[in-house]
Amino acid sequence: MIIVLKHDITPKEKEETRSFLERHGYKVREIVGEQDTIFGAVGQVMMDSREVELLPGVDRVIPISKPYKLASRELKLDDTVVSVGPVRVGGGRIAVIAGPCAVESLEQMREAARAVYDAGAVMLRGGAFKPRTSPYSFQGLGEEGLKILKTVGQEFGMPVATEIVGTEYAEMMNEYVDVFQIGARNMQNFELLKKVGSLGKPVILKRGLAATIEEWLMAAEYLMAHGTDDVILCERGIRTFETYTRNTLDLSAIPVVKKLSHLPVIVDPSHGTGIRGKVHPMALAAVAAGADGLMVEVHPHPDRALSDGPQSLYPEQFERLMRDIEAFTPVLEKEMERIPYNIATQSDEIKDAPGSEPKGTRVRKMVAFQGMRGAYSETAVHRFFGEHYEAVACDSFAEVFKQVLQGKVAYGTAPIENSLAGTVHEVLDLLLQHPDIRVVGEQKIRIIHNLIAAKSSTLESIKKVYSHPQGLAQCSRFFEEHPGIEKVPFYDTAGAVAYIAERGDPSLAAIAGREAAQVYEMEVLKEGIENNPRNYTRFYVISRTETESIHKPNRGVLVFSTQDKPGALFDVLQVLAEHQLNMKKLESRPIQGKPWNYMFLLAVELPERPEVLDRAMKEIKGKAEDLRLLGLYYAHGE
Ligand code: PEP
Ligand code: MN
Repeated sequence: MIIVLKHDITPKEKEETRSFLERHGYKVREIVGEQDTIFGAVGQVMMDSREVELLPGVDRVIPISKPYKLASRELKLDDTVVSVGPVRVGGGRIAVIAGPCAVESLEQMREAARAVYDAGAVMLRGGAFKPRTSPYSFQGLGEEGLKILKTVGQEFGMPVATEIVGTEYAEMMNEYVDVFQIGARNMQNFELLKKVGSLGKPVILKRGLAATIEEWLMAAEYLMAHGTDDVILCERGIRTFETYTRNTLDLSAIPVVKKLSHLPVIVDPSHGTGIRGKVHPMALAAVAAGADGLMVEVHPHPDRALSDGPQSLYPEQFERLMRDIEAFTPVLEKEMERIPYNIATQSDEIKDAPGSEPKGTRVRKMVAFQGMRGAYSETAVHRFFGEHYEAVACDSFAEVFKQVLQGKVAYGTAPIENSLAGTVHEVLDLLLQHPDIRVVGEQKIRIIHNLIAAKSSTLESIKKVYSHPQGLAQCSRFFEEHPGIEKVPFYDTAGAVAYIAERGDPSLAAIAGREAAQVYEMEVLKEGIENNPRNYTRFYVISRTETESIHKPNRGVLVFSTQDKPGALFDVLQVLAEHQLNMKKLESRPIQGKPWNYMFLLAVELPERPEVLDRAMKEIKGKAEDLRLLGLYYAHGE
């Protein structure tokens, strides 16, 4: 703290002030200026600054260090990523928690969960204990509600969040809950904070109705000091003089808190506004302001809701909101958080391949990708499967397919399409050539090219930049702006980083993804130097078996070749039209070894009743040759 001394302070008072501070563990340094004399006091001791202010000869005290430590950015520079089962909150992701205000019945929760899950929410909310302003309002179903919440959460593979209103419920609730919510009215219920903190589970801490940001962070500090590292802060509106909204949603708190703290911050636009029609704009604004996620109230029948109906979205409104956020995320260089593909809920058996190795759990959690460590493909693996799967680097796409076929890994990933460069034909050809390989999922990655160099480099010191020719081409504007820098084509983006890392020359740089910089302990000198920010790559996830996804598939991919006669392709497409199957993609590809003969790859949107596709395929079989289903999977955000 800085202690400004009074002009007329006596030498005795000055000495007493100094020894008072030293007795309390501070190191004191005196600075004499032209106008004022101050003491700079540094120390670990938490002390009420008013005690110093009351000393004779002291004019005023300016505290410098924050009263919260564990929650502060000073202690931890990196963003905290809170893991709740398979879901991650924080660190460049937007995680959406949704569900009704209160758990009302099994049917209501199932309907709500279906709607929010289909729209892309990753966690289910629902209050079983409701802290209502009026004692006559619905108070929640209690433990019965928790049972319903847990059952439905499990049915959809979604972790559940629910509010705890008293310490006496902690042990009982612990069995049902994935994330505890501390409500706005309980933000400064310190006994509750201590108890919930000591359980060590993730906690959503809502901001109190009249809490300053510092008080909010101090409440987080309570949770952390008592045993949990996983605190998600939730801005839900504060009490102001304004009456047109239920609360005033303080979105400026987001950038403020993000600077002060490493903890993720989510926003609840439902309680923040109290009016259904205001949720959509404020949710988008929250995401724009840097929120790591949202908590939104959605009810299958808001007009019949037992609590907070007027602010609950209809399922269609929520779906529209999710689509708008999805469209918005690239601008913010973020990704929507998704429930990763969960192998544990699927059949443990991977079909035996000839000569395959024994398939222990390790193989089941191994995923092959093409490229070196830190490649964009490795990012795709981690995005899809989460951090607990092992990404196995392969030299070529063919090697990825081989490893999957031989059962050395359970899965592989391969890029199928880039939004700027088009189809990756080599991967498509491999899919056509391998009837035992299935597409079981897909992952889209935004390609952000960074200029990466050694820690000692500066932009001025760089003379040569290495990258894959496509990486160089996609950053042509950067090279136009820096004509003195030479472009050097390299076989691989991450490989280019490995190469310059080994050379250790500060005049060399590479263009690659951020993960490559991390893997090879290099620095990102300039972020996002690609010309076109709409640079995405779609990866297919492949497997030997047709592994069931926990997501209901919404996409089918087929390949076929047509007979050599007029209208042959038209006949096939007509079958799709008759069955009302929406075609998402059609691509032709020369058949290897059969010059001027073509295969077609066709992606269709799966209807509600998947039998429709079976029937359509039976009909197509009569009109096309070599019809094959490449896979059924869940495609996000389309
Ligand atoms: C809730 O999430 O349903 C709730 C009661 O929120 P808050 O504590 O923010 O009012
Ligand atoms: Mn509510």
